[in-house]
Amino acid sequence: MGRRRLTVLAGPTAVGKGALAAEIRAHYSEIWISVSVTTRPPRPGEIHGIHYRFVDDDTFDQLIADGEMLEWAVVHQRARYGTRREPVEEALRQEKLALLEIDLQGARQVRQTMPDAFFVFLKPPSWDELTRRLAGRGTETEGEQARRLETAVQELAAESEFDAVVVNSEVPAAAQELVALMRNTSQATPFA
Ligand code: 5GP
Repeated sequence: MGRRRLTVLAGPTAVGKGALAAEIRAHYSEIWISVSVTTRPPRPGEIHGIHYRFVDDDTFDQLIADGEMLEWAVVHQRARYGTRREPVEEALRQEKLALLEIDLQGARQVRQTMPDAFFVFLKPPSWDELTRRLAGRGTETEGEQARRLETAVQELAAESEFDAVVVNSEVPAAAQELVALMRNTSQATPFA
């Protein structure tokens, strides 16, 4: 039932998923992007309802208890992040091309419940570039950066689990490539 209209994009921390999402939001209005729920506090400039829905632990617990989460995970051993099921199902009912940008644990959960979704791995051009981007962001402490790099090592090893790989060298080109993949895949016959 149009499951190939759902694309799950995962990739290591600081690979540029946020920048890619901003690019797609700005230039590809036909793509519906899920807004995740998180217990982490907003970074400067982040807007509730656009970048994330920022909630407290009790609210997150309630969403899980009510069965509202399609997937959720503790990321970087810190905060919880998750995708609410209903908005995704609504976007698919409306035959939109839907995109989830989530971590590897979440992608694996979606593979269990929606195996016909299209799974794309976003990869940095190199390990050096990844560490440079993480340091350059300047929003995490050194301890936090080290924790995120630890997660990134595991995440990079998971590339082969995915249906397609996009290298994020330049954000506009990567966005264009991802959208082209989404358009092609949604038109292909899923069970051929
Ligand atoms: P950040 O705190 O830098 O915005 O995101 C940290 C990590 O959380 C990223 O790797 C991102 O993919 C992941 N993430 C964001 N939203 C979700 C979500 O809804 N579910 C899961 N499982 N991970 C998410």
